[in-house]
Amino acid sequence: MRYHTHIATSIAAGAGVAITGDASFTFPYVVGIAIGALLPDIDEPNSYIGRRSLGLAKVIKSIFGHRGITHSILASGLIFYLHTMYNNDFTLGIAYGYAFHILGDFFSKRGVPFFSPLSKKKFKPPLTYETGGGAETLIFYLAVIGSFYMLYKYQLYTQLF
Ligand SMILES: [Zn+2]
Repeated sequence: MRYHTHIATSIAAGAGVAITGDASFTFPYVVGIAIGALLPDIDEPNSYIGRRSLGLAKVIKSIFGHRGITHSILASGLIFYLHTMYNNDFTLGIAYGYAFHILGDFFSKRGVPFFSPLSKKKFKPPLTYETGGGAETLIFYLAVIGSFYMLYKYQLYTQLF
């Protein structure tokens, strides 16, 4: 999944969480989601965030490989744990964005290693999309439309500021 699709699908999912009442759709929450949705690809020097990581992505990739430990349940759990230590809308957004990124990659052809570093096995559902392909473009637009729909229908925008 490309970075803008990660951001769009994660914000859509984050809006869904806000509708259930488990989060407030505040500005820090949304910014947190966008950042969290980019973070797992810090293991790929050519990713949006990797190109801005001042060389950190190269180091992480050489140690863990792309779509390794940063795309695991362990990493996601750790980010949620950090959120409980610094409990606010921004860190909650980061935790959700991070988890939604892994979920987004799960549906791609390459799958994700949920149990890294214990196992390198990559999991994926029977139906997957090709990264950067037509299906992903469709997912991107559906996520954008879905986000605006929820923003309007459930008046989430009233929580923004
Ligand atoms: Zn990824």
